Formats: sequence, structure tokens, C-alpha cells
Amino acid sequence: MVENTDLLKILVVDDEKDIREGIERILKRMKYTVLKADRGEAALEILGKETVDIAILDLKMPGMDGMELHQRIRDIDEKIIVIIITGYATIETAIEAMKQGAYDFIPKPFEPEHLRIVVRRAHEKLRLIKEAEMLQAERARTLIDLDMEKSRIRTIVESLPTAVVVTNTSGEVVLMNPAFLASLDLDESVMAGEKLEFYVDDMGFREMVLKLSQGQIDAESEAPTYELVVSGSKYLMARGQSVINENNECMGAVVTFANITSLKMLDQLKSEFVAKVSHELRSPLSTIHEQLALVLKETSVNETDVDQHLIERAKEKTHGLISLIGDLLDLSRIEAGGISHNIQSIQVADLLKSIVDFLGIRAQSKDQSLTFELASDALPFFIADPMALESIFGNLIANAINYSPKGAVIVVKAVLAGKYIKVRVSDNGFGIAPKYHDQIFERFYRVKNDDTRYITGTGLGLPIVKGLVDSLNGEIKLDSDVGRGATFTVLLPV
Ligand code: ADP
Repeated sequence: MVENTDLLKILVVDDEKDIREGIERILKRMKYTVLKADRGEAALEILGKETVDIAILDLKMPGMDGMELHQRIRDIDEKIIVIIITGYATIETAIEAMKQGAYDFIPKPFEPEHLRIVVRRAHEKLRLIKEAEMLQAERARTLIDLDMEKSRIRTIVESLPTAVVVTNTSGEVVLMNPAFLASLDLDESVMAGEKLEFYVDDMGFREMVLKLSQGQIDAESEAPTYELVVSGSKYLMARGQSVINENNECMGAVVTFANITSLKMLDQLKSEFVAKVSHELRSPLSTIHEQLALVLKETSVNETDVDQHLIERAKEKTHGLISLIGDLLDLSRIEAGGISHNIQSIQVADLLKSIVDFLGIRAQSKDQSLTFELASDALPFFIADPMALESIFGNLIANAINYSPKGAVIVVKAVLAGKYIKVRVSDNGFGIAPKYHDQIFERFYRVKNDDTRYITGTGLGLPIVKGLVDSLNGEIKLDSDVGRGATFTVLLPV
């Protein structure tokens, strides 16, 4: 393929004028720019001023011969393609010239077509050389770009104040930063490249990261978190995400860490504060409550109805405060892990029956039916502090009574299900919309709607229930919707 011929310059060096001009004619018709010289010295002079792409040299010339000129041209510019013209007598010299780097040779006398073919070939070679040079330059540029991009990302990750670690699909660490090493109390000389267990002991954390690394956690859902403790006193919150490429394949995981030690301490201080204040408030309030009860008894005859009513209200309010304080103290105890003072073996069915009997009076006052069913022949003994079980089921049954209208049906059912004692407290009352199912287990959360607005409570019952169930390694589930009643199921491992 020959193109852009007029951009190429060809130097013709021959002492025979006819040949020089004959070649010029042919090449000009091919649209090349032609320069001519009748001897070596003149050719070198031209090369001093002009850049030439192809040189066609006669071997036998007076003065500097073609071989020498070829050498000199190579010294000036290696890229010039040299074609040798030679008589049959000097064909061996031509071969010698080729060995030294000449591109081709044309024996004299030659047909114009032969010259054209050789020049076209030389031109094609030039084009290929140029193309190769361009590709080479482009490749070098791409490599430099890639390298810069890589080192830029590396620098950014290294300087991030947040601890970051990146794993591949086999859970090996491929990238991490100094903040990660510092957060995990690792030496700064520790290198990437090892399995995650080399850096982090916590099994649960490693399982989460491995799942993320292999795309086993839905990438659309919220990034999962994991709380881990380092060196016994440092709390980190890890948050991870799968790394998905443009083909939707999982390439690994990226995990960041936040130090939540101070938050944890604050939380603990808050709990301690609440516990302390509650404790201090309880006895004076109880005293006031007792005294109000006394005043009520003594004044019933001669005081007016209005005064009676006021004192009655004050007594109710103090009673509410005392039970709030009781709840707060229970919660603090559960959080501090100190709820199992009085471990005994308990007959759960008997315990449930006595709670149902006790709360039955309250249910009756609302015309509700509250019944207990034992669906297994007998339940095995359960080892725990009976106060904990009383608190769990007392709260659940009291809620069923409170959050159901007059005439509702409440059933408490216990059954042995494999290795668990399963207790269900169900009512056909107001029910709870699914969007609140998690929130109602948080401290002080209460669902406010037209049905529940006038029901008093603290929002601490269910957090206490949850805390106690957790401490017994049990589980609590809720099935409910608005208007459909609520069923709380507690599973306790025997
Ligand atoms: P409290 O009863 O003091 O408000 P809880 O923590 O026991 O606190 O309950 C939190 C909220 O959950 C309640 O305010 C109520 O809205 C809802 N709830 C609990 N049990 C039931 C139930 N059986 N039926 C309907 N709503 C309930």
C-alpha cells in the first residue's frame, strides 16, 4: 500500500546522468519528491541540509563509491532506507552492502517496473516502521498513565485517616493502609498479602468479610456492620461492602473501621448515671407514695371529694414513677450482666400459671379472657433466676392486656419444641404495624396512634424482655399487624 508519496523524499545518487534522470522521471510520476546527486560528496552535502527517507545509490562511482557512501549515510541517519543499484559484476559487493544494512538492490540494467516495485516495498517498510514506533509510544504512554493512576489511588488510600482494608475473593488482604494497622494495634511493618486471619482474630468478623468478598451478601442491601474489640479495650465498628466490577462480578470486599470506644464509654456512663439517679429517687418516692396512701385513708371522712381526687391522682403518679424507676434499674442490671443472682430450677408451667392468675384480675376488669395452655405433657425444668422469667412473661402478658380493647382474648401457650421451651403470648388486640417491629424493642420507644394514645407506659418493658431473653441465650419473635392482634413467641434453650 503506497500513500502520501509526495511526503516522502528520495535521494538518487548516480554518476550517469541518463540513469539519474530516468529514475527521477519514474519516481516523480509516482509522486515522490526527488533529490539528485552525481557523486558521494554531493549526496552528503544534500543530507546535511535535508531529511531524506530513501536513498538509491549506484555502487560504482568515481571518488567515494557506493559502499562508503552507504556507511556514511548510516552514520548520519540509520532510519534512511538504502537501495543499491549495481551492475552484474559487482553483485557480491551488493550482497555485502545488504549484510551491512542496505534494504534491497536493483541490478543494472533494470526495467522501470522493477524500480517501482522495490521503491514501493521500501515505502511500505517505512510506513510499518512508523506505525510500530507510534504503537510503542502509545503503549509507553498508557503504561505511564496506568502507573500514575495506581500510585495515585495507593497514595490516597495510604493517607486516609480512616482504616481501610481490601480483600480478594479468597479473603486475602490485597490493600490496606497505616490507619488499619494502627486501629488493629498491628506493627507498621506488617505487609499486605496474607489471609485475613493473619491480621484479625475475630471469627465473626472474618466470616462477614469472606461472605462479602465472595458476593454472598446482597450488594444492594445496606452495608453490613460488625463490632469488634481490639486488645480488650478498643471498640471498632467495621462496615463492609462487596467490590463489584462492570461485568457484575464480585472481586472482593472493602471494609472501613470507625473507633467507637468513646461512644461506648459514653453509653456506659449514661447507663451508670441513670442507674444512680434511679436508685437515689426510689426511696424518697416510695416514702411519698406510702404517705399519700396514709393521708388518703385518714382524710376519707372529712375532706372534700376534690381533695380526695387530687391525692388519689398524686398517688397514681408516684406509683407510675416508682415503676419507671424499677424498669430503669432492671435495665441497668441487665446491661451490667448482673441479673442472675438467684439461679434455681424452675417449673416454667407453674410459673406461667401463677403470672396468669395474678394478671387475670387486671384482664377481668376489662372483660378480657386470659388463659394458659400447656401443649406438652410436661416441660423440663429450666435453670434460671425466676425473677427474669417473671419479668419476661409478666411484661408480655401485661402488654397484651394493655394493648387490647375490652372483651379481647389473650392466650398464653407453652410447649416443648425440640431443645427449646416455646412460650407464645397472643392477643387479638390493636396489633403493631410491621415497620415498628424492631423499634419497639428500643428503650423508650412507644407506638403512638389513636388506639394507644391514652395507654400509659414507659417504653421500657420490651427492651427489658429482650435483654433478659438474650441473657438466657433465647430468642424472641413477633408476629403482628394493625388490627390483627399480636403474638410474641419466646424460645428458651433447655
Ligand atoms: P410500654 O408498654 O411501657 O409502652 P413496651 O416496651 O412494653 O413499653 O412496649 C413498647 C410499645 O410496643 C408499646 O408502647 C406498644 O405501642 C407496643 N406494644 C407492645 N406490646 C403490644 C401488644 N401486645 N399489642 C400491641 N402493641 C404492643
